[in-house]
Amino acid sequence: MTPEAFWHQLRVARERDAGCSLCGLERYQARRYLEGISNDGVNDPPLRDRLVRQGGYCVRHSREFVALALLLPSAILLEDVVGYRLRHARQGVRANKRHCAACEVEHKARTAIAKSIRRHRHEAALHELLLAGTLCLPHLELVCPDLPELVRKKLIDAHQELLNDLAEVIRKHDYRFTHEPISAAESASVKAALALLGRDG
Ligand SMILES: [Zn+2]
Ligand SMILES: [Zn+2]
Repeated sequence: MTPEAFWHQLRVARERDAGCSLCGLERYQARRYLEGISNDGVNDPPLRDRLVRQGGYCVRHSREFVALALLLPSAILLEDVVGYRLRHARQGVRANKRHCAACEVEHKARTAIAKSIRRHRHEAALHELLLAGTLCLPHLELVCPDLPELVRKKLIDAHQELLNDLAEVIRKHDYRFTHEPISAAESASVKAALALLGRDG
């Protein structure tokens, strides 16, 4: 991928999602894959067969499929997967280890992102884009080892306020300080820290 194409993807991801732009980029790839399956994939018996044998999509991606697909492809996918799993359960067959193909798309996107960031780690345009948005902890941990110290410092310092807010919540639970009101940002800090942990699944 050219640097320009990568910058463009990052910029679009940032505009599309309020949260971590790299999560947004991965989610976007998975969404495009699911859209493809919902449009044509359900008419492809070998592909459906493979999907079913993998146990279908994880719960998060099953929900996303249903949210973006029409009723018919959703019913086809779910009849396949639910029917297969119920049949196996009735036979007392132990379930295969599930493997979500949409998670796999996200995983591949993550590897490609990490590779692009490593390749362009000294480029100011990349630093600017990363610093303009927020990154979740898994993505910070992914990109930080490749970034120059100054950029790393700025990315991490952006979360200092959150740590301060959490520390204030803890401090204000001390009996000596319970009279001090907890601010709105402090109340929201636990939720913000959870968001920083990244998406599940
Ligand atoms: Zn992320
Ligand atoms: Zn998944």
